[in-house]
Amino acid sequence: MNNSEKCFQQAKLSIPGGVNSPVRSFSSVKRNPLFIDSAKGAYVFDIDGNEYIDYVGSWGPMILGHNHPKIQEAVINATNKGLSFGAPTKPEITMAELIKKHISSIDKVRMVNSGTEATMSAIRLARGYTGKSKIIKFEGCYHGHVDSLLVKAGSGALTFGKPSSAGIPDDTTKDTLVCQFNDIKSVEQAIKNNENEIAALIIEPVAGNMNCILPKDNFLKKIRELCNLNKIILIFDEVMTGFRVNYKSAQGYYDVQPDLTCLGKIIGGGLPAAAFGGKSEIMDMLAPNGPVYQAGTLSGNPIAMAAGTACLQTLMNEKNFKDLDHKSKSLTSGLLTVANDYKVPFKTSQIGGMFGLFFTNQESISTFKDVNQCNQEHFLKFFNEMLDQGIYLAPSSFEAGFISLAHTQDLIEQTINASETAFKEIA
Ligand code: PLP
Repeated sequence: MNNSEKCFQQAKLSIPGGVNSPVRSFSSVKRNPLFIDSAKGAYVFDIDGNEYIDYVGSWGPMILGHNHPKIQEAVINATNKGLSFGAPTKPEITMAELIKKHISSIDKVRMVNSGTEATMSAIRLARGYTGKSKIIKFEGCYHGHVDSLLVKAGSGALTFGKPSSAGIPDDTTKDTLVCQFNDIKSVEQAIKNNENEIAALIIEPVAGNMNCILPKDNFLKKIRELCNLNKIILIFDEVMTGFRVNYKSAQGYYDVQPDLTCLGKIIGGGLPAAAFGGKSEIMDMLAPNGPVYQAGTLSGNPIAMAAGTACLQTLMNEKNFKDLDHKSKSLTSGLLTVANDYKVPFKTSQIGGMFGLFFTNQESISTFKDVNQCNQEHFLKFFNEMLDQGIYLAPSSFEAGFISLAHTQDLIEQTINASETAFKEIA
């Protein structure tokens, strides 16, 4: 038994399932998780002394690579001043101004501690602002573990949502309508069936929680028009895509301005920070000046602000995003070539520093249903073979992959070379 295995056994005695977030358990890839000791650049190192090229990046935040000196320095300097004050600080203004500078749909922004809090608060704000109750979400989109948004993918377009977790009363999700990503008709129908009752539509503009599905045929623009026509608050959940897919995030890339935006992951630089922001008219409905209550003991924590600010200041130039896009293209096209060589049915997607791998011969993959039809066995073999060769991919076929600025072309080549064995095994 290696050290990771031993630790997993021990962890299970005092932590439910041995982990503090379910996907970390590796249960969907049927093996023990690696316990990570440290990380640097594009690498993570486990407690058995193995090194891995990391394409998980702590599920998104590590866009500069692990343990970046700029973030490390900013955190150390901030800790010297104190850890938390529960009072306003200058670093919160710096962060808010940085976010506003780069996301033009945001006039005002409130900091929170997790993406879940950001989406939960944005939904409450939209309901408070419009005085309406129902919301639309999309099958396969994940917005954190907010009760009203944790509606089982698969409940189908236009049906009232059913909770996908025990402990959520049906009443909590009865106002959640589920539509199909990339199917504008499903949205039109939901709006028609619930006229003047829908407060908000929340969407991941690039769906990164069902692999990596790009919006097609002006889907986001059409949604914007429908929301305008029906006075529905459009919420872009850019917790994953914000500062990841493009210099201007997904909203800039697709040229669609939401009313509210949720951010997380990258804006904390690896520490817990997230945010929701948008038009002043809506944001000013928040307490203390408005009637919509929202608060947080550690919100805008100075250490998290320091890490996030250092991350954004280092990241934000267009060259870096060209670089990320080039690298993810290089990786996905390289993998595709090897898959084709071995005649393995395989497709890829990519945008900026985010990519998707699909084991399928479907022509197009644009909905949750399409993703669900991909070959799980092939994914499983691929994941395990790659891990055995030191390539750490997301341990689920429903998760996107992430490239960082620390992934060099050499490491990408090394990854593509490693895939030979994996695709050979599948063929
Ligand atoms: N929204 C999206 C798009 C996410 O990908 C996630 C997490 O992966 C969340 C919200 C929830 O964020 P957190 O895990 O920080 O609560």
